[in-house]
Amino acid sequence: MSFNIAVDGPAGAGKSTIAKQVAKRLGLIYVDTGAMYRAMALYMVRMGIDIEDEEKVIENCKNADITIKYEDGVQVVYLNGENVNAHLRKEEVSNAASKVSVIKEVRAQLVALQKKLAASSDCIMDGRDIGTCVLPDADAKIFLTASSAVRAKRRYDELTAKGEVCDLAKIQADIEDRDYRDMNRENSPLKQAEDAVFVDSSYMTIEEVVDTIIQIAEKRERGNSVSWK
Ligand code: C5P
Repeated sequence: MSFNIAVDGPAGAGKSTIAKQVAKRLGLIYVDTGAMYRAMALYMVRMGIDIEDEEKVIENCKNADITIKYEDGVQVVYLNGENVNAHLRKEEVSNAASKVSVIKEVRAQLVALQKKLAASSDCIMDGRDIGTCVLPDADAKIFLTASSAVRAKRRYDELTAKGEVCDLAKIQADIEDRDYRDMNRENSPLKQAEDAVFVDSSYMTIEEVVDTIIQIAEKRERGNSVSWK
């Protein structure tokens, strides 16, 4: 049986940064489920399919063949055979991803892929519904969050460091919109699983959050007497 850690939380809470470091330290693979929703959104955008037209999205989602490979320890997303990692972080794709992810058929297709990956490998998987829907029996569950002001400031600093001009208030408003959509959708809304540990990273360093998660995972590993090494 594989050892699985589930990390859920809102956009910009630092899930991927933290999960990557935990994965490295514990020798797990990191499964970024948001990238799968982003690849699905990219497919719809490229095909010129109106993301708001649910029927059209349902009709077309089966034509998006999304597969995951690990190359030098990095998750690579293939969309119909093409490595699309470089296209997933654009603003247009981020917004479209949070819209296609409300659709039940899209979720079913991607959740099946996520379950398969977790069953075959020791992993830390992040997303919105990992502890509640995808891996309800995960060995450890974390709900990682931070205030929307802190999350917006982190994103603002990231973008300005890259030389992009941006507006902090607009970034915070976008984050709050995405939170609202993720938490209030009918299918698999973002919420803390009952048995998840709540971690607020607003005033913690990356190292502190990584150490906290490793401590939780090690405690669970001993409690469940499973081993991932
Ligand atoms: O985590 P990330 O920001 O890359 O996710 C992109 C979008 O995909 C999110 O806004 C969310 O709506 C959706 N998502 C989801 N369920 C997941 C992971 C991501 O609905 N497990």
